[in-house]
Amino acid sequence: MTAGYPLCNMRGGLTVVLVALLLGAAGCGGGEDPAAAPAEESAVEESLKLYVFECGRLRFDTVERFSIADDETDVRELIVPCYVVDHPDGTLLWDGGLPSAVAENEGWGDNNQRLDRTFAEQLAEYDLGVDLGSFDYVAFSHIHFDHVGVAGELTGGTWLVQQGDLDAAFPEGPGAEAAEPLLDNMRNLERMVLDGDHDVFGDDRVQIISAPGHTPGHQVLFLDLAETGPLVLSGDLYHFRLSREERRVPTFNFDAEMTLESMERVETFVAERNATFWIEHDLALFETLRTAPAFYE
Ligand SMILES: [Zn+2]
Repeated sequence: MTAGYPLCNMRGGLTVVLVALLLGAAGCGGGEDPAAAPAEESAVEESLKLYVFECGRLRFDTVERFSIADDETDVRELIVPCYVVDHPDGTLLWDGGLPSAVAENEGWGDNNQRLDRTFAEQLAEYDLGVDLGSFDYVAFSHIHFDHVGVAGELTGGTWLVQQGDLDAAFPEGPGAEAAEPLLDNMRNLERMVLDGDHDVFGDDRVQIISAPGHTPGHQVLFLDLAETGPLVLSGDLYHFRLSREERRVPTFNFDAEMTLESMERVETFVAERNATFWIEHDLALFETLRTAPAFYE
């Protein structure tokens, strides 16, 4: 309701005065009576921000292992992003890019991987108030090397990991050697083991959605951004647009049937929430995005 000032600001008129009286507006003569001020609109929600980083690139001679014939797409290069979610109650690192050692390559090196600037260098340069020791939460969409690159450099934060990926990461138990050496360090972090979806900050705005199949504990991330709107980050549910259009399951996935079920579940969620969906590895999409220090909110 906007009783009070708008009426008082109008020039005279019995009707206006009467309406003001009926509405209980006081102090029309003085004009500065705080009691007559319009009620504050409901408190504006503190901003949720998403920062997008380039954390490497991969290229391929053939895409057949993604169950795509080489003549079905011209795409041979994938982007490898990292994301920082800045919520009023804390920060979340989502996906950790290529290992920082890849940055020692000149360009593509000899393994079709490149990393022009490490995530740590970018964080330091952009001065966003976070570093590899200060995240409140760390979550990887899954435990493949191109998503856990900074795992060995993290010195703080709670690791949000599905039981399936924890078991795959440490086949002999969390105290024993990791399947992927980069993950050895993760045993030193606090850990929250998930068995399904998880509302990270308890207000529905940042949700981990379980989507197993690519790995046993693969997951995607949902963000409810005030301006950008609802958004889902794919993890490796799909690598290519064609993978999504035709539900192609890579030959190297942990479980093809489980992957298809997860695709169905996530697509239903995306449709219900009317969410934008970003295929994380999609280079053409990435080139249209705002990258850090710019952000989405
Ligand atoms: Zn990947």
